[in-house]
Amino acid sequence: MLNFTVGPVQSFESILLQGAEQVPYFRTPEFSVLMKQNEELMKKFAGALESSRVIFMTCSSSGSMEAVVMNCFTGADKVLVINGGSFGTRFAQICEIHKIPYTELRLNAGQKLTRENLYRYDGMGFTGLLVNIDETSTGVLYDAAMIGEFCVKNDIFYVCDCVSSFLADPFNMKECHADVMITGSQKALACPPGISVIIVNARAIKKAENIDVRSMYFNLVDALKDGERGQTPFTPAVGILLQINIRLKEIESAGGVEAEIARVASQALDFRTKIRELPFEIVAESPANGLTTLHPYNADAYEIFMRLKDEYGIWVCPNGGELKKSVFRVGHIGNLTPEDNSILVDAFIDLQKKGIL
Ligand SMILES: *Cc1c(COP(=O)(O)O)cnc(C)c1O
Repeated sequence: MLNFTVGPVQSFESILLQGAEQVPYFRTPEFSVLMKQNEELMKKFAGALESSRVIFMTCSSSGSMEAVVMNCFTGADKVLVINGGSFGTRFAQICEIHKIPYTELRLNAGQKLTRENLYRYDGMGFTGLLVNIDETSTGVLYDAAMIGEFCVKNDIFYVCDCVSSFLADPFNMKECHADVMITGSQKALACPPGISVIIVNARAIKKAENIDVRSMYFNLVDALKDGERGQTPFTPAVGILLQINIRLKEIESAGGVEAEIARVASQALDFRTKIRELPFEIVAESPANGLTTLHPYNADAYEIFMRLKDEYGIWVCPNGGELKKSVFRVGHIGNLTPEDNSILVDAFIDLQKKGIL
């Protein structure tokens, strides 16, 4: 199968080879060294301040979204959730469950966040802001720097879910004044699912230390303490952490984070150029590099997903809920090339010939 979904994505050869190895015991100095390397490279690629720390969670990134909300906010906070799709809705749901007071800034599918829209919430006493920098359900990229400026002005604690944008879109924690950033192993890191990464700055560490989180597994302060010696409180997904180490080092030696982002950006541009003549509308007003969200003018989006899967051996990413019939997504992250894009475009043309598209 040729995989154009947004996670799990196609891994590079070295990651697959590592996956075939025995998983080692991990309470060792050698594993701690590897974890420290992972921490340093993650900080570097995310543009985190030296005083920031990295937490490797063994859970999917939704677990880290929940952990961050639980460890950084209380009932005394007032949180603004940017909600332009299913991942924004997830943040709102987490606030609801944990009884964190929140307000949603709702955007339509594909709508970008403008300054005007955001500043309607200026001076209203918000203490926190939650945003999915790439709202992966529609492929909209929000302006992290513009939001950061708003947060600084209002003294808001700023949480960026960069799960699908890390390594795909330019992002610098320090420059955009983010307090927390979250990502996961199965998106642009192109490893198997199972590890999620949380980067916290000094302010976030302090905030977590002053909150009495009612959870054992999701206690970030405990994780930070063990992380000081390159360890985790519980058995992590050791094999994936080894794969992440290989991937981060390969990115570093191939020119660093900028080169990797440029690779994904050119993969996206190549695809968008090749589909210009096809009967699709790009849904996102401000598209992220990691994926292109398409609305087929004359066809059922879910049927396209099914036919590509069953008749061509290609996975694209269907949408759920209200967008199921009208929208599907094509990922540009992971081990994909312009030649792969051509294979997908040829399949679209074939579907067109058959009168389906
Ligand atoms: C994929 C993704 C997540 C997390 O999804 P999991 O299924 O929990 O790994 C969270 N936020 C965004 C923006 C994502 O793209």
